Amino acid sequence: MRKSRRPLVLAALSLLATAPGRLLGDEPPPPIGFAPASLAAHRVAEARATAVPTPVQARRWLRTLTAEPHPAGTPADERTATFVRDRLREWGWSAEIVPYEVLLNYPSAPPTLALDRPEPLDLDLEEKPIADDKDSANSAAFPAFHGYGISGTASGQVVYANYGRPEDFKALEGLGIDVRDKVVLCRYGAIFRGLKVLNAQRRGAKGILIYSDPGDDGFAKGDVYPDGPFRPESAVQRGSVLFLSLSPGDPSTPHGPSIPGADRLPFDARFGFPLQWEEGVETWEKKTGLKRAEYFATIPSLPIGYGAANEILTRLAGANAPGGWQGGLPVSYHVGPGPAELTMTVSTEYKVRTIWNVIAKLPGAVEPDRWVMLGNHRDAWVHGAVDPGSGTAATLEACRTLGQAVKDGWKPRRTVVYASWDAEEYGLVGSTEWAEQFADEVDRKAALMLNVDSAVSGPDLDMGGVPSLRDLVLGSAAAVTDPRSGRSLRDGWLEARRAAWVGSSPLVLTDPFWARDGEAPAPSGFVPQLAALGSGSDYTAFLDHLGVPALDVGFEGRYGVYHSIYDDFAWMEKHGDPEFLTHATAAKLYVTILMRAAGADVLPFRFTPYADALRSYVDDLRLLRARQARKAPAPTADEGFEGLTTLADAVLALGAEAKRLDEALDALGKQDGARPEKLEALNEALARIERAFLLPDGLAGRPWFKHAVYAPGLTTGYACWPLPAVREAIETDKPEQLKTAVPATTQALARAAAAIRRAADLAAQP
Ligand SMILES: [Zn+2]
Repeated sequence: MRKSRRPLVLAALSLLATAPGRLLGDEPPPPIGFAPASLAAHRVAEARATAVPTPVQARRWLRTLTAEPHPAGTPADERTATFVRDRLREWGWSAEIVPYEVLLNYPSAPPTLALDRPEPLDLDLEEKPIADDKDSANSAAFPAFHGYGISGTASGQVVYANYGRPEDFKALEGLGIDVRDKVVLCRYGAIFRGLKVLNAQRRGAKGILIYSDPGDDGFAKGDVYPDGPFRPESAVQRGSVLFLSLSPGDPSTPHGPSIPGADRLPFDARFGFPLQWEEGVETWEKKTGLKRAEYFATIPSLPIGYGAANEILTRLAGANAPGGWQGGLPVSYHVGPGPAELTMTVSTEYKVRTIWNVIAKLPGAVEPDRWVMLGNHRDAWVHGAVDPGSGTAATLEACRTLGQAVKDGWKPRRTVVYASWDAEEYGLVGSTEWAEQFADEVDRKAALMLNVDSAVSGPDLDMGGVPSLRDLVLGSAAAVTDPRSGRSLRDGWLEARRAAWVGSSPLVLTDPFWARDGEAPAPSGFVPQLAALGSGSDYTAFLDHLGVPALDVGFEGRYGVYHSIYDDFAWMEKHGDPEFLTHATAAKLYVTILMRAAGADVLPFRFTPYADALRSYVDDLRLLRARQARKAPAPTADEGFEGLTTLADAVLALGAEAKRLDEALDALGKQDGARPEKLEALNEALARIERAFLLPDGLAGRPWFKHAVYAPGLTTGYACWPLPAVREAIETDKPEQLKTAVPATTQALARAAAAIRRAADLAAQP
């Protein structure tokens, strides 16, 4: 999936830390973590390898992978698994298909949608074929459909609810509009679609239609497909309506992997799980300890295009939609209710179905039990040229390259693991079940995970990840040329980040908050940061649940056909990446990151960027709190929140340890002859640091999420709420939660600081 991880809220405050001036426009920095004696050989191997990926090969992989619709668990999906496994074996990887038995729903009949009032009118839900694009006419495509949605018929007056966020429903209440027994019409965007369903069903709606507004990814953004890259009026955004911010994975096995004999929740063929008005829901809740209505959809939902939505919106009266609710259709939006009344029917069938991960390895020569992971999902809602085909094509090209590098004599120090995940679109199912099954092994072995999803929807590099990997990816990006500009990928990325910082940073040139012991506050400056990871792709189980340092790297652009039948090979050739140059560039970047991470004598992690990022996350919380204080009828002086200083002190303490570790690692990188036992102990210590951020009991109300720094927002689903326990207390206005959230977070930061100190001690030893 990975449509959006950008938080809509606050821009990070800036601060001065790691001599940012040296980062732009200089010579590429040398790869970090290599002793002088191994650096020369690495440079030769890397230069040779990065010449291997080609646009022609990437195009070939994409053409094959997008040949037919291949949603999770279908025969076409299994064919892509076999294809990927066989290529990897050809290239010298050991590769196996690892199946799981998971609960998935498929449409059992096409959905229907009809206006009953003010006049009867059948609304068309089919995506129209386009001449010169034979894939767009493929009759095997799922119709308009939500993964993990339920069967049912809903009739009633329509209410327009903007993005379907809690604040949108609150605004409706303010207008005196109750959505109880109504059908909610809301647009895609801002939050994960499953949470729109949750918000609507909590308020008593009978059904929900989620449409793609042309103001978000249609004609108001540019020409629509086939003339341009944006969404045509019949295009439907399929997708999962799982409640992703509570926990991902197979919803019928919330407590473990979906392997034979797994303890599975009783499920229902039409509704996923039994519903209130059926016998058995009480028994189900008793047996599972779950609240049915808070766990899974209870009302039917459908995605629709803006052609159909237009017919409904033009028949809504009532108040004009509040400010910011007007979309791109040429009509004044009203909230209703009515006079439009409609009937929607959804037919879907749940079954336990087989899915197929492909797991492949290139063994490490020195540290075979330390993994450098690359992952990408393979299942698609339809053809999935961008999502996820571009990612599979680019990562396969990277795997071909690494296999070739080994044949050419490259000996990775660590084992490289490639994972082609299945059923990501339903809710990160394949990666979550695998990570749960092999949790102990992942915990012992995984040093980092590079996640790719939609690798190419345009030319603009987008990098997210934990801050300890920033210097690794920036250094790698510095070594790869952007074929369009002729500059390094790093320079283009830094320029874009700096422009965003200039435009968004609040004006705080010196901030006394962070000064200690009478020192003068340092002026703030630009510090490049990787985007904070929330959820919406397969890094989630690794980072949020198991504490594995993760990256998410791809190229973005003008892309309006997400999860529709038009996300196909013809779209990519016409608009996304006509020459497949970006696919090849992506493969080169992945190869560079992986060869450095798998080859370096010392894991190429740096922790000062982590301390910098934590400071900016605390500043985000301060800003959020200050904005809440401004909302109060009689604004009081902004005193932050309870425990703020404790939290900030923990960040500063971590920063001091990080500085010592980074200096020791830099010094070590200038020497040869480190003892093998020292390197082993140091690498083990470095690999464990991220685990120290895990909260033993997880987050309140969603214990599967264990990371103290990274989790998807409870009400966003995709976008990250850094320092989630504290953020949630402030965001949901529950100050009493701060009494536990701040100490738990502070203790996790202290554990991480101690882990950093252990690594620094090892690095400084002779
Ligand atoms: Zn995806």
